[in-house]
Amino acid sequence: MKGTCLLTIVTLFATPALAGQLALVGATVHDGTGGPALEDAVILIEDERITCVGSRVDCVTNGQVEVIELAGRHITPGLVDGHVHYAQTGWLDGRPDSGIGTDHYDYETLQRSLRDDPGRWHRAYLCSGITAVYDVGGLPWTLDVGRSNEDASQRPHYKAAGPLITHYEPVFGVMSAMGTDTFLPMDSDEAARESVEQLVEIGAQAIKVWYLDPPANQREAMDERVGLIGDAAREAGLPLIVHATELRNAKAALRAGAQMLVHSVEDQLVDEEFIQLLQEAEAFYAPTLIVGANWGRAMSSVRVGVEPPPIDDPNGCVDSETKRVIAEAGQLGSAGQLTGAILERVFSGFLDEGAGRAIAGLNLIRVHEAGVPVVTSTDAGNPLTLHGPSIYAEMEAMESAGIPPSEILVMSTRNGAAAMGGLDDFGTLAAGKLADLIVLEDNPSQSAGAYRSITHVMRAGELVPITTYAAE
Ligand SMILES: [Zn+2]
Repeated sequence: MKGTCLLTIVTLFATPALAGQLALVGATVHDGTGGPALEDAVILIEDERITCVGSRVDCVTNGQVEVIELAGRHITPGLVDGHVHYAQTGWLDGRPDSGIGTDHYDYETLQRSLRDDPGRWHRAYLCSGITAVYDVGGLPWTLDVGRSNEDASQRPHYKAAGPLITHYEPVFGVMSAMGTDTFLPMDSDEAARESVEQLVEIGAQAIKVWYLDPPANQREAMDERVGLIGDAAREAGLPLIVHATELRNAKAALRAGAQMLVHSVEDQLVDEEFIQLLQEAEAFYAPTLIVGANWGRAMSSVRVGVEPPPIDDPNGCVDSETKRVIAEAGQLGSAGQLTGAILERVFSGFLDEGAGRAIAGLNLIRVHEAGVPVVTSTDAGNPLTLHGPSIYAEMEAMESAGIPPSEILVMSTRNGAAAMGGLDDFGTLAAGKLADLIVLEDNPSQSAGAYRSITHVMRAGELVPITTYAAE
């Protein structure tokens, strides 16, 4: 593991530093705007905010500032993950709708423990350099996470959509059997409007529609109903977020006023009409390149007697409970026997995944080249897409698809903050912004893999070695 060495903290002069005044000196700063990196830079911080970013001449330190020397290091804004689920665990126990292990795992107990300790995921995110997350779907309790009065330096910025609105009937039965209401209906115009009203009432910060491909004879009616949900969301002043991975459904979502498309268009290459709709809606495009392959890895690893799947956790940020439940995948007993329909789903999933991933990569390039803001997003909480460190593989997949690392940096900082409506406070490094930043050993403008070399995270002005958050 990199980054175990401590920074040298040098207080200039004998006078004690004024409380809350700090200077980060000598690092190369990549400020998140996409402009050139600034070498040998100074960042001044007072309490939780940045007061100056510039050269040693621009940002003059006086004798009463605590100075932290960071020569040779790189600083970027804290990362933003534009798509996470706090009500999911990174394993199949959090997805009873998969049909795997439902007899083995106790979903209601799991949800209570997740609700009672959102700090489990807060720590994993801060440990990984992520200082803001957008929770785009989950149980009603997720709406309380962002309302916490807990010290801001101990948690990432958090914004949540809460329960999802969907036309996909089978999930209602599965989830109500689990004693939960993760989904809201849209089976009539009235039901759709009521679902939005209910979300507004419980404090949802966005309206999310889970738009799976409807049967051919229902498509037009469903498109109209998504439009109706879009109107109701607009009236309530909430952004509309849509899951739609087919080109036609993604277009319907944009016509309905979607401000963010979660996931990639994966069924075919996007066309000029789609690009125009994205531009007219000024929508964010939030591809998820690795989550599908991780689902396949997870589902194929639950067979009895098989070694547990490896996890990608370079800095030890994944908590012991998550590691335990993954390590016990082979002990699911009869619930873990991949037979019949599940086996068929696993293998057809692998075939679709290969094709979908290739198309998603090409579409990412096309959308980015048209100037549409792309938001780095993992879909963390899904099986083997782990809260926190999964962002590294997502950024590397974006680089493999052909996005230059310097642009991935903007997609993973400024664009995510803009999608969350938080750009006034975070997402770039400038005077007036919150001091949310990370310290890296390697250069993130040269390689997306550089984020794995993170040594420190600062959230709201508090600089912490990531080892502080690492799991035991
Ligand atoms: Zn998701």
